[in-house]
Amino acid sequence: MSERTVRTTCPYCGVGCGVLATVAEDGSLGGSVTVRGDPDHPANKGRLCSKGTNLPDTLGLEGRLLHPEVDGRRATWDEAIAAVAGRLSQTIERHGPDSVALYVSGQLLTEDYYVANKLVKGFLGTANIDTNSRLCMASSVAGHKRGFGADAVPVTYEDLELANLIVLVGSNLAWCHPILHQRVLAARQARETRIFVVDPRRTAAVDGADGHLAIRPGTDAALFNGLLVHLADRGVIDARFVAENTAGLAKTLEAARADAPSVEQVAAVCDLPAEQVVAFYAEFETTRRVVTVYSQGVNQSSQGTDTVNAILNVHFLTGRIGQPGMGPFSVTGQPNAMGGREVGGLANQLAAHMGFEPEEVDRVRRFWNAPAMATKPGLKAVDLFRAVDEGRVRAVWVMATNPAVSMPGAGRLRQALEKCETVIVSDCIADTDTGRLAHIRLPAAGWSEKDGTVTNSDRTISRQRAFRPLSGEARPDWWIVTQVARAIGFAEAFPYETPAHVFREHAALSAFENGGARAFDIGDLADLTDAEFETLAPAPWPRRLGGEPTRRLYTDGRFFTADGRARFVPVTSRPLPRSRSTGSLMLNSGRLRDQWHTMTRTGLSPRLSAHAPEPCLDIHPADAEARGLTDGGLARIATSVGTALARVRVTEAQRPGEVFLPMHWTDRFTGSCVIGRLVDDEAVDPVSGQPDLKRMPVTVEAYAPAWTGFLITREAVEPSHGGYWSRRAVPGGHLIELAGEGALPDLDALAFGFAGATVDYSDGARGILRRAWLTHDRLEACLFLSASGGLPGRGWLVELLSAEALEAPARRALLSGRSPVPMVDEGRTVCSCFGVGINRLVAAIQSQRLTTVQEVGQALKAGTNCGSCIPEIKEVIADAQRCHVA
Ligand code: SF4
Repeated sequence: MSERTVRTTCPYCGVGCGVLATVAEDGSLGGSVTVRGDPDHPANKGRLCSKGTNLPDTLGLEGRLLHPEVDGRRATWDEAIAAVAGRLSQTIERHGPDSVALYVSGQLLTEDYYVANKLVKGFLGTANIDTNSRLCMASSVAGHKRGFGADAVPVTYEDLELANLIVLVGSNLAWCHPILHQRVLAARQARETRIFVVDPRRTAAVDGADGHLAIRPGTDAALFNGLLVHLADRGVIDARFVAENTAGLAKTLEAARADAPSVEQVAAVCDLPAEQVVAFYAEFETTRRVVTVYSQGVNQSSQGTDTVNAILNVHFLTGRIGQPGMGPFSVTGQPNAMGGREVGGLANQLAAHMGFEPEEVDRVRRFWNAPAMATKPGLKAVDLFRAVDEGRVRAVWVMATNPAVSMPGAGRLRQALEKCETVIVSDCIADTDTGRLAHIRLPAAGWSEKDGTVTNSDRTISRQRAFRPLSGEARPDWWIVTQVARAIGFAEAFPYETPAHVFREHAALSAFENGGARAFDIGDLADLTDAEFETLAPAPWPRRLGGEPTRRLYTDGRFFTADGRARFVPVTSRPLPRSRSTGSLMLNSGRLRDQWHTMTRTGLSPRLSAHAPEPCLDIHPADAEARGLTDGGLARIATSVGTALARVRVTEAQRPGEVFLPMHWTDRFTGSCVIGRLVDDEAVDPVSGQPDLKRMPVTVEAYAPAWTGFLITREAVEPSHGGYWSRRAVPGGHLIELAGEGALPDLDALAFGFAGATVDYSDGARGILRRAWLTHDRLEACLFLSASGGLPGRGWLVELLSAEALEAPARRALLSGRSPVPMVDEGRTVCSCFGVGINRLVAAIQSQRLTTVQEVGQALKAGTNCGSCIPEIKEVIADAQRCHVA
């Protein structure tokens, strides 16, 4: 058996970890794959988190879109390209260039992004191309441009290891950027770095931190305005830096004084004890090497841009930027959000960090030799889909993203797509919520088949390399767009035959008439040969032609504004508008440790799905009690635009008055818990256009089903009984939890069309119905329903899916739901890397009297790989010790 190892990059978060993918030619389709962290990649130095470790689980053909389709029929690529080109051209001919739009994604490679942006902004004559990064970090982009004069992150990952204080603002780094968090914790161990967390929730990032400010959501700007005032009053000012390298302090300080005049005022606005604010300010005041890390908690707000500038302001005041171990640091959510920013994937950017100033438009026009150059910004995501709704945009092409569930106001957006004249979707997944609404579906290459580059949060460009052949008729996105451009009539301007070809042009544009004026410049890479592109090592930008390699930015105190000075920006924190919505609780939303976006990939992995098996509403005990909610029960959540059902998790990690739902579940995985349908699109940052996904008024009440149950099946069916259901991957199939109202449903009505002979059991007095489907002793599915509770555990029944034929004892015991031999049900997974469930963990802690994470690691290996589960292991140990003491 031969093996080959390919150096590539993880497709999930913005840390951008290097991955070594080893393919064994063992006769399986495409070869079986194992992955490990690339020890030579500067982002992760050999480590991977649980999502990266379980990448091989997501590589199967299950659910892949493998052929082009036009109007519901399989088509050849020639037919599909002609259909896309024809419909876009006709729409423009009839209704003008602004009647078409593209909505793309931080999942695209830089080369995909570059070609799509060039086609739209240079050749279709509109700037209507926006990206789902609008929902992720548009506020950071806008804040950087206001403060630095360029969207250029100052620091590097190494600065986290050189800092003495790390402030995490609105960032659950432990779950959302796990490898970066591990680097922070290692630095803390080595040099006693202090960590403060500013977050309404007590997240995993709080574990081991020196301070946690459980701030009222949306008040971060007031906290940093108050810090600016505090630092100024205490004389913690780098007077020389401020005088020589900045502008605008006086007005900014005046605004901050009006907004946050005293610690007491800040404490009241932020709903924090004054002593916590004092402690945080003192820590910041006395520590020079500070890195302030921020992500979606700051960005996904209707005052996100102002909050970013409030953070930048304190770094400017203290001159804590451009030197080792200090600076503000926006970490991106997606693998190539940064690459999208480089090529102009946002509707208000042009390309290569240029905007829509006339000289910039002219420069790009000349470089591209573009016949129909866009001269003004296009529609940002929320406005783009409103334009679809209102019929102003009549043809929309969605690439590698799922706005029908991920955008706020998703209910209305879905209706808009339903009535849109032309919806084109390029995706590697066949059955996405958006794909279901498409007229034309184009199969895109998946992660293991893609070839190109991505840029991570600290400006490092890495190669993503294909290590498997293209599946079915899937094609790379850059190739698809190139073919469409040629079919429309732009063959000369789209000559690309390889991703290297595209990359060279992208690099050349970055250097074109740059002369040091623009931060983004990779001119040194513009002449790479194909062979050099193939072997390109991780390369941070800027990389100016003939210049010295640059790593940390602003080291000389010069910024990218016209006069080279950083800009203080006056910030006034203000209440967030959400006029139509009412509710006694405030809904926050975000990511879980082991899932990614809308679960189209991570949802395929049984291990990853076992960490949080169902969508859970986190709620404080007092709020739960007031509403009659119990831990593990169900809740109905309602807003002015939608409703949801979710499992309840009662936790003191939530502030009273606030609840949290994960963002990942879609109609494919649950009957009703789509965050985009609960959150409206009213509250949008006025500068960046980024929607507020962190503060939505909701009402919550107990949902008491008349019956509960579960279905274990080889097929990914979607129940339609109208109540609650939630599906997750298990080895060999799927486990679906069920609940409903009224009488127990008729088993034949719930048959789902399974093949095989059926075996039934019913107990009318106890309200129990059970059925199993078997084909030649192989279990196809089993359904357990009960109106009186008392359902069996799922572990043994799930294991039966892995058996080719059931033994006689298992067959006899099947409808009892209980294993004929004793077995440990792992329960919810805690450690995804080694598959350690909560039940095995608790049993080991109790029987072996384990008292530390290290002892648990020695006994079970749990927590010894990526470390993401360590905070949960600590909680389980603490719970066990509390029980023991009690
Ligand atoms: Fe992938 Fe995890 Fe690294 Fe993020 S931290 S890039 S998800 S391995």
